[in-house]
Amino acid sequence: MTIGSKEGPPPPWPDIHRTVLSTLDALASSTGWIPTAATVGIEPVFERVLQQICQPQGVSPEAYIDVITRDAGMRREVQKRLARLMETPALVNMRREAQRREAEHQLHVLHFVLSGQEPPDWVMSTIDEEQQQQLRDAAESGEERDPVLLPRVQRALRKLAADPTTYGQCEDCGTTILLERLQLVPWAECCAACQRKREGVPDVAPEPEVAVTYF
Ligand SMILES: [Zn+2]
Repeated sequence: MTIGSKEGPPPPWPDIHRTVLSTLDALASSTGWIPTAATVGIEPVFERVLQQICQPQGVSPEAYIDVITRDAGMRREVQKRLARLMETPALVNMRREAQRREAEHQLHVLHFVLSGQEPPDWVMSTIDEEQQQQLRDAAESGEERDPVLLPRVQRALRKLAADPTTYGQCEDCGTTILLERLQLVPWAECCAACQRKREGVPDVAPEPEVAVTYF
């Protein structure tokens, strides 16, 4: 490869950059990229854009990334567009739906271990035989039985079956529960703040009662 050799003109980075920006702008009004971004993130979409633009110019996407990594202004222009694409309502909805399905899957697996009741086929079909056996063993041993957790998990599964759209909404204040919280606590009924209220835990840690002793 002679690309990037000292001979020959340098690659037309400003032109390439402008094309990248206008292509990302154009994506905002199309939808074909959204399923990919919803399942594996915006990075593969961005990489494909770079390949399409860089290849005809005889440069590599990595070289372009190097250029914009060294230029804060160019980098910001790209990041701003990628962030805007991530906020596309159809994408936000699709990610929420994927997250709901993931939570439902987790809850079914947990329910299996807690109760010994086999989950539906669509859940089992995603688990390999070895893992299925591990889950069965755990369920049969009864070691994971948890009389507090089981009803919570069952309640969350019933809610999901009755009206999936309300999943992830706080039952007390209606706010959307943070993704990080749902990933850790897929059976959560309310947001962290309302949960603290329910448990009577003060929302803000009290000031330490230590006298100021600067003087
Ligand atoms: Zn709440």
